[in-house]
Amino acid sequence: MTSRRKLVVGNWKMHGSHKANAELLEGVLAARPFGADVAVCVPFPFLSETAVTLAAGDIRWGAQDCSAHEQGAYTGEVSAAMLREFGCRYVIVGHSERRAYHAESDQLVADKAKIALAHGVTPIVCVGETLAQREAGETAAVVKRQLSAVIHTLGHCVAEMVVAYEPVWAIGTGKTASPEQAQEVHALLRAQLQAATPRAGEMRLLYGGSVKPDNAAQLFAQPDIDGGLIGGAALKAADFAAICRAA
Ligand code: PGA
Repeated sequence: MTSRRKLVVGNWKMHGSHKANAELLEGVLAARPFGADVAVCVPFPFLSETAVTLAAGDIRWGAQDCSAHEQGAYTGEVSAAMLREFGCRYVIVGHSERRAYHAESDQLVADKAKIALAHGVTPIVCVGETLAQREAGETAAVVKRQLSAVIHTLGHCVAEMVVAYEPVWAIGTGKTASPEQAQEVHALLRAQLQAATPRAGEMRLLYGGSVKPDNAAQLFAQPDIDGGLIGGAALKAADFAAICRAA
């Protein structure tokens, strides 16, 4: 058996308002305690209020992206150092929506992960194949390529990151990977990490893509699935809390 503590992270994406966030966070706080580590990754403008609301408890918070640069003339970007000042424990990097809509390359994602770690913010590095890639039998090659860039760039720090396997075809579609499909890819990722660091067995590998209260427990029961990255279901306190309890 593993000693890895499960981690459930809510990815709010571009959702929220002062009022909605307050209700959501109060609802999640009221549902504690959870047996797993729990965090929410919120839009940048809400980091401050999230930090205030969650300051006293054990729920962590983070952001959904950061710049690959330290500082400078990068209009619109937010640095890892800034996230650290807002108390962020985590930052999601390489989410498929950013890879697809902002043309983020494997190397850019790896550079973001590296700068986050340098500032004490744990990167949650997302990898995953599209439906076309899965149907073409390319799943293993795609996730391997995506993870390999991060492994090479992080070097001896690689064990400090969290990895999230998010098949693109399962994100926001209601089509969850089956526990077996997800476990198969998680095992591949774990093996790749094992070749890179003796601490691979301690690393947390999350599954993301249409995780809901009714499928979370089965997914989290898989030997290499150490929790989840939750989109849509993280916007309802009752659903998110139920998923956290399933972990
Ligand atoms: P979903 O999103 O849970 O809405 O599928 C997951 C994610 O994109 O992180």
